[in-house]
Amino acid sequence: MKGRFAPTPSGRMHLGNALCALLSWLSARSAGMGYVLRVEDLDTLRSGGAFTPLLLDDLRWLGLDWDEGPDVGGNAAPYEQGKRADIYQAWYSRLCKAVRVYPCFCSRAQLHAAQAPHRSDGVYVYSGRCRAYTPEEADALLCSGHRAAGRVLVPPGTEIRFTDGHCGPQAVRLDEEFGDFLVRRSDGVFSYQFAVTVDDALMGITEVVRGRDLLSSSACQTFLYQALGFPAPSFTHLPLLLSHDGARLSKRDGAMDLGALRERMRAEDLIGRLAYACGLLERPEPAAPRELIPLFRWDKIPGEDIRLPEGLFSA
Ligand code: GLU
Repeated sequence: MKGRFAPTPSGRMHLGNALCALLSWLSARSAGMGYVLRVEDLDTLRSGGAFTPLLLDDLRWLGLDWDEGPDVGGNAAPYEQGKRADIYQAWYSRLCKAVRVYPCFCSRAQLHAAQAPHRSDGVYVYSGRCRAYTPEEADALLCSGHRAAGRVLVPPGTEIRFTDGHCGPQAVRLDEEFGDFLVRRSDGVFSYQFAVTVDDALMGITEVVRGRDLLSSSACQTFLYQALGFPAPSFTHLPLLLSHDGARLSKRDGAMDLGALRERMRAEDLIGRLAYACGLLERPEPAAPRELIPLFRWDKIPGEDIRLPEGLFSA
């Protein structure tokens, strides 16, 4: 049994990432499970690699540890997505044999013009435009130099059901919520949905804990688990952290990144205040992650997004 934390190093870690790291770690450690750190630097252009050492340093500073990861190795190495392209390629070939994956030639402008209504979280539902090409037509376009992304065909009426460890039973109409989703981008980079599924499966992850913004992604991933013949892990999605005025914390809010927070407080102060904010401690008193293991229970964590009391992390 294994849990994991799978951050994208596209900037300095912020408080929301720290909460996700802490709770995924506590959930795994309180159940005696192993814990994996995987760096999701798939989009190397955006990530650039500069934030990975800082990420590892911030996690260690917080007092977290992992049994497998980029710096400690493990059976499923490498633990950085940017180094796993050959693995994804092999599983992409298998996926293409198991279900229909078709080339999509749509430009960004076409995607935006022809979409079904955008969902509130910015994910759009693909119209299915390129599904109509015959293999010969698609080959002709590829041979004449057109670049294509890869989309997996989601049959009409596909409903994915799973029970989230914190949000309860879920039923997602994959065709209506996502449509034929991307597994590979036209620049050859594998999609988040595909890479995360292959990685969690090959790394033997049995428990996925992450932010609620990824709840519906679990449906895409469950579809891919089924297509590739892997058992799906359990999914538990955390409430998001909001600032005291109700705005979502983001990487742009520099005052809440670990660089700024580390200047203002000790790790035990930060962990204790986070534990207080999410209901594990009654007072914001200093605590190390390992001291919280006996106190951890999912039913103490609020169901709703967590609004931080004003000034809790100011000094
Ligand atoms: N890499 C993703 C992120 O940092 C999380 C992926 C996951 O936990 O599945 O937002």
